[in-house]
Formats: sequence, structure tokens, C-alpha cells
Amino acid sequence: MGRKGRKWITETQEFQTTDDPYLPKKYPSGEAICPRCHAVFRDKRWLIDEEFYQEFKDSDLVPKFLCPGCRKAVDRYPMGYLYLSGEFFEKHRDEILRVINNEYERARQNNPLQQIISMYEEDGRTVIETTTENLAQRLGRAVYKAYKGDLTFKWSEGNKLVRVYWQR
Ligand SMILES: [Zn+2]
Repeated sequence: MGRKGRKWITETQEFQTTDDPYLPKKYPSGEAICPRCHAVFRDKRWLIDEEFYQEFKDSDLVPKFLCPGCRKAVDRYPMGYLYLSGEFFEKHRDEILRVINNEYERARQNNPLQQIISMYEEDGRTVIETTTENLAQRLGRAVYKAYKGDLTFKWSEGNKLVRVYWQR
């Protein structure tokens, strides 16, 4: 991966050292696989390596357990919410959700622990729950970058949870 790889690792470390109750204090040694999202645990962090996953998914050589991202998704423990609303949003909904999905795919390549837990309608808004604060912010910023509008961040006490509002 060369120079690009360095940047990638820096970013991953940053994301995975946030104050997050789902991150273990101690890491297992060696490699592991998450059977739910195919993430691979290596060098004390989770990353995407689909080739490795495919090679070892049916083998006893590599332990399998849920990554912290999937545990949050299964427990439904969001650390970020993105709220989308407005006339422009309703009119361009499919297009905007595509922008969000593309950004989500990129975010997952950086750090597979960043996941969208669910997406639903509530009080005339579309709500997206995410496993990390970073992902909700990142998705909100991507929509703002593409379409402008109003973007607001609200952190809970202790910065454990962020609510991101975008409307246009
Ligand atoms: Zn997983």
C-alpha cells in the first residue's frame, strides 16, 4: 500500500481509540475473523481483507468472533445519529441516499467498525443510526459537501454520542 497505507493506518488508529465501551481493553494475539461483516482482526485492529476472510472463513486455524462494530449493531447501541429532512431531501432522496452509501463504503474500508445500524422514518425525518460518532459526522459532511443545506452537530455530555442534523 506504500504511502497511502501509512495514512490509512493513522486514520484507523484515531477512529479505534475513541472512548468506546465496546472496544476491549485487551486484544487477542494473532488474527481473527468477524463472521457477520467479514472484518479481519490483525495487529490489534480490525480491517477489511476480503481475500483473507474467504481463505479462512471455513478453517479452524483462525478464531471467529463478532467485531465491536457488529456487537454494537446486534445490541443496537448507536453512538451517532444522522437526521435528514426537508423538501429538497424528499425530492432528491434516492440520490442523497446513494451519496451516503458511497461514503459509507469508503468509511468501512478505513475502519470496518464504523457501521450503519439501521435507517428508519421518524417524525417526518429519515434517521440513520451509526456505531461510531465519526461515521454519523462523516456521512453528514458528505451530504453537506454535495448539496450544501444546513448541517448541525450536537454532542451529548461526555461526547459519547453525536446527533447530526442535515436539512434542506
Ligand atoms: Zn463485524
